[in-house]
Amino acid sequence: MPRTAAPAPALAGGDAPVTRLPGVGPAVAAKLAERGIQTLQDLWFLLPLRYEDRTRITPIRDLRPGPALQAEGRVRHVERLFRGRPMLKVTLGDDDGSLLGLRFFHFRSQQVQAFQPGRRVRVFGEVRPGQNGWEIIHPSYRVLGDDEGAALSDRLDPVYPLVEGLGPGSMAKLVRLALGQLPPGEVLELVPAAAWTGLALPGLREALLTVHRPPVEADVAALMSGTHPAQQRLAFEELLAHGLSLRRQRIALREHGAFPLPAAPDAVGALRATLPFALTGAQQRVLSEVERDLAEGAPMLRLVQGDVGSGKTVVAALAAMQAVASGRQVALMAPTELLAEQHLQNFQRWFEPHGVRVSWLAGKVTGKSRREALAAIANGTAQVVVGTHALMQGGVAFAKLGLVIVDEQHRFGVHQRLALRDKGLEGERVPHQLVMTATPIPRTLAMTAYADLDLSVIDELPPGRTPVTTVAVAAERRPELVERVRKACAEGRQAYWVCPLIEDSEEIEAQAAQTTFEQLSEALPELRVALLHGRMKPAEKQDTMRRFKAGELQLLVATTVIEVGVDVPNASLMVIENAERLGLAQLHQLRGRVGRGSAASSCVLLYQSPLGVIARERLDVMRRSNDGFVIAEKDLELRGPGELLGTRQTGLAAFRIADLARDARLLPQVAALAEQLLAESPAIAEAVIARWVGSAARYASA
Ligand code: ADP
Ligand code: MG
Repeated sequence: MPRTAAPAPALAGGDAPVTRLPGVGPAVAAKLAERGIQTLQDLWFLLPLRYEDRTRITPIRDLRPGPALQAEGRVRHVERLFRGRPMLKVTLGDDDGSLLGLRFFHFRSQQVQAFQPGRRVRVFGEVRPGQNGWEIIHPSYRVLGDDEGAALSDRLDPVYPLVEGLGPGSMAKLVRLALGQLPPGEVLELVPAAAWTGLALPGLREALLTVHRPPVEADVAALMSGTHPAQQRLAFEELLAHGLSLRRQRIALREHGAFPLPAAPDAVGALRATLPFALTGAQQRVLSEVERDLAEGAPMLRLVQGDVGSGKTVVAALAAMQAVASGRQVALMAPTELLAEQHLQNFQRWFEPHGVRVSWLAGKVTGKSRREALAAIANGTAQVVVGTHALMQGGVAFAKLGLVIVDEQHRFGVHQRLALRDKGLEGERVPHQLVMTATPIPRTLAMTAYADLDLSVIDELPPGRTPVTTVAVAAERRPELVERVRKACAEGRQAYWVCPLIEDSEEIEAQAAQTTFEQLSEALPELRVALLHGRMKPAEKQDTMRRFKAGELQLLVATTVIEVGVDVPNASLMVIENAERLGLAQLHQLRGRVGRGSAASSCVLLYQSPLGVIARERLDVMRRSNDGFVIAEKDLELRGPGELLGTRQTGLAAFRIADLARDARLLPQVAALAEQLLAESPAIAEAVIARWVGSAARYASA
C-alpha cells in the first residue's frame, strides 16, 4: 500500500491500528491504548516479561525451588482446614511414592469435589519446601480424565505485561495475531546489518518470532535469563533507541543557546589564592573542562562524578565565580537542609571576602527573611543563591540566572533539575548546568544512562587522607564499641554513632536515635554527647553541627541525615547500627564522613545476625574496599542498574528487555551506532526511537 508520509516505510505496515486485527473492536483498542499499545508494531514489540515452561513434566522427586515447574500425580489426600482462614490441602503422589502438597486459600466447594482421591492432576507453579516434602501454593492445575492423553505444550508460554481488563490468554492471542502480519525481515530491519552481525545476533524478524514463540528446542535457560541471542538482538535495538533518544535530547538542549560566561582568570584566581589548599590534579582537570563549557554559547550540561570527599564543592565554587564575574547569578541546590547549610557556610566564607553576595533559601526560611531573599534573587543583588528544593518552587524568580549547580543529583528527579533550569529561561536561552554526584557508576553504564550529559570524573582524593579501616561486628558486641568510642574520645578524637532508618518513618528513626542517645549518654558520662536527627528544628541542627565541628561535642548520635554534607576532619570513628539494612551506596556515603583528616579512621558496621547472603556480601565489599567505583560495580551486580541509578533521575524509561548490567557488552557498539545514525541517517534514528521508546519519550525537552 503506497503511503505519502516520509518515515513510514520503515514501519512496514506496523503502523496499522490494532483494530485491524480480528476481534479487536473499539473497547479492546481503548484498553490497549491505555498501555500505549495502538499499532500492530506496538504488539510486535510488546515483549514477554518471562516464560512458563509447560513443555515437560518434572517427576515429583526431581522438583526444585526456582522457576515454576509442571508436575503430575494422583490425589492421595484432600483436607479442608481452618487456620484463621479456610484452607484446602491436597496431596498428590507419584508412582514411586514421592509426595507433593498443594495449598489453596481461595477455593470453591466445587473445586474440592474435583480432587477425588485417585484422580490424575497436572499442576504448574513454584515449588517450595513444605511440611512433608515439596509444596506449591495456589498452583494452576488441571484435573485430567483417566484416559486423557498427556498432551504437552510444544513451546514455552510467554507471559506478557498485563493490560487492565484483558486476560493473559487474550493478550497472548492478540500478540499471536499481530505476529501473523509481521513483514519479511528485510522490510522490518531499520538498522544496517553490519551493526549487529558482528555480535553474532540474528535478524529482527527471527528474533521477534523466537522471543514470542520460543521453539521447544530453544535454550530455555538462556531465554529465562535474557541472554538468548534473540533477546540480545532486541536488547541491542532497545538500548540503541534509548541512546538515540537521550542524544536527541542533548541536541535539542544545545539548540537552546546560553549566555556565554567567559573565562575569568582574575576573579577565579583570586578565589583560588584564598583557599587553604591547592587543587588536586583531578580537580584542576575537571575545573578546566567546566570553564571551557561555560565560555560557550551553548548550554553546558555536565555531570561531575567524584567519590565522597574528592572535593567537588570547591570546583563548583570556582565555576560559580566565573559566572558571577560575567554578572550572572548562580543557584546551588542540595537535597538536604543540612548539606545546603554546609554549602552556605563554605560559600560565604569563600565568596564574601571577594565582595560576592551569597543568599540562602530553604523551605524553613519564612516571613520577612523569605521576602528579603526573594527580593534579592529577583533584583539580582543575590549573586550566589544556596538552598534546597525551595529554590525551584513557584514565586522564586531570578534576575539573570547563568549557572545552575545541583549537588548529589541522584537525590533529585530529572524534572526537578529542569524546573530549576527553567528559572533561568530567557527567550530561547537557558542557564548552564553543573550536576554533581558521589554515586560513581561504571563508565560504560554512565555513557548509556547519561548519554545526554557530558561527564567529568574527579578520580583522586586530596592528599593526606588515610584510608578508613572497616570491620563488621555482630550487634551482641555493642558494649565493646562503647569502650572504643570512650577510648577514641579520650585521645582527643570525635565519633559518630549512626542509627539508620528501621522503618519507613522519620519519626520512628528519630525515636531510635533518641533512645540510643540516652543509652550512650548514660554509658559514657564523661563525654559530651549530642543528638542530631531530621525532626529537630533547623536552628538546633545547625547549632549542634557547629559545636561538633568546633570540637565542643565529642560524640554525635545521628540518623542518616549526616549521610551527605558533614565535614569534620577530626572525627575518626563511625559506628553504623543495623548496617545490614543499608545499601552499598549509602554505607559508602556514610563512611565518607570519617577519614577526612590525617588520623587513621575506622568504621564499624554493626549488624543483626543472622545475615542474609546479599547483606553479607555487601558488608564484605565494604570491608575490602574504600573505592567508590569498586563499590558501585559491586552494587550494580547486587542490585541491578535500575536501583543503582533510579530511572527517576536518569531520564531512562524502564526497559522492556534490555538490562544495563547483563547487556553491558553491547553498550560500546550501541554508543557508536547511535552517534553514526544521528549524524548520517536521522530518519532511521527517529524510526528506531518511535518503535521502542515511542510515547514513553517523556523527557523530550531536557
Ligand atoms: P565531596 O566531593 O564529597 O563533596 P567536599 O567538596 O565536601 O567533597 O570536600 C571534602 C573535604 O576536602 C572538604 O573539607 C574540602 O575543603 C577538602 N578539600 C577539597 N579539595 C581539597 C584539596 N585539593 N586539598 C585538600 N583538601 C581539599
Ligand atoms: Mg559533596
